[in-house]
Amino acid sequence: MQVLVLGAGQLARMMSLAGAPLNIEIAAYDVGSENIVHPLTQAVIGHGLNNAIAQADVITAEFEHIPHDILAVCEQSGKFFPTTEAIKTGGDRRIEKALLDSAGVRNANYFVINTREDFDNAIEHVGIPMVLKSALGGYDGKGQWRLKDRHQIDAIWAEMAQCIAATDTQAIVAEEFVPFKREVSLVGARGTDGSVAVYPLAENVHTNGVLTLSTAIADTELQAQAKEMFTAVADKLDYVGVLALEFFDVDGTLLVNEIAPRVHNSGHWTQQGAETCQFENHLRAVCGLPLGSTKLIRETSMINILGEDSLPCELLAMDGVYIHWYGKEKRTGRKMGHINVCGDYSGELQRKLCALADVLDKEAFPAVHQFAANFTK
Ligand code: ATP
Ligand code: MG
Repeated sequence: MQVLVLGAGQLARMMSLAGAPLNIEIAAYDVGSENIVHPLTQAVIGHGLNNAIAQADVITAEFEHIPHDILAVCEQSGKFFPTTEAIKTGGDRRIEKALLDSAGVRNANYFVINTREDFDNAIEHVGIPMVLKSALGGYDGKGQWRLKDRHQIDAIWAEMAQCIAATDTQAIVAEEFVPFKREVSLVGARGTDGSVAVYPLAENVHTNGVLTLSTAIADTELQAQAKEMFTAVADKLDYVGVLALEFFDVDGTLLVNEIAPRVHNSGHWTQQGAETCQFENHLRAVCGLPLGSTKLIRETSMINILGEDSLPCELLAMDGVYIHWYGKEKRTGRKMGHINVCGDYSGELQRKLCALADVLDKEAFPAVHQFAANFTK
């Protein structure tokens, strides 16, 4: 089976690694250069979207900010999964919010802003504090503003007006500020036959808007809520593949923050912690194969490696510690790789995270250090 992935980053790379044992071969299409590249070596193996499509049995995507003309050509081929609608939904917060409402899924109160008058109405409707997010193109907390005080209104509007004017179709989505206790996400897969398999929830720690630590958790009540919302969204989209839902946990009630129509950073722990990892399950789904078990096999956390291209060698000698590099050039704050860390019995994972804090740099891995500080308190 030949699968073409739109996007040539780490997610295509990890799909390639997961697909190999099943004889599923991945080619990655770099949307910017229009080159077809090998997802592991980045070697150019062809050029042009039409060539890429002709060579593929199935097409999928590793990101949602894909130009719509490219999506249209892929859709026409009849080979594209999940659906181009799902990708567009994940790439535009206006469509995303409308989808959540129509699927009957709880989400933060919101208002769409195109003009200064809309901003005033949003303040009326949503209230202060509020979070303002660009409808298109935001990721890792970029393209966002926090309105905490009326004094900020003019300054924030000046920046938002510039953002709206920069692109024809841009707008801002104002959301009520949700006083969440923690953030969790649910990654799961839906097959071509409509079957759904979800992983255990992950609890996520963000540092400056970027995911830094993600841990699989066991919470029967939250898991049931999350699975119901996942199924509602996936069914509504007639989704095929892996889908992620990010939630705010407000005292035991989940609200959907956003969806990602793809494999997700908060699902990387499944490579070592679940019977079938998210990358394999995505490929199984889009190739029309049965989904693999999403069962937790051991307690696992994922630590993102941001802006670093080397780690202390001791890590490789630690039991239950797995390093995944993405082969990328070092840049400040860039997602360069991740570490999965596993515990075989209750309490072992926490002990290992503390042991990692002893060897990992405090500046580069603040969430691990914070965890260790809280744990040993
Ligand atoms: P990514 O795609 O990397 O997940 P993003 O840029 O799409 O991030 P969001 O997930 O919407 O943006 O927001 C980033 C973070 O900002 C959230 O993980 C959460 O910590 C915080 N945040 C977002 N919306 C709200 C809200 N309405 N109330 C409180 N905090 C929020
Ligand atoms: Mg997010």
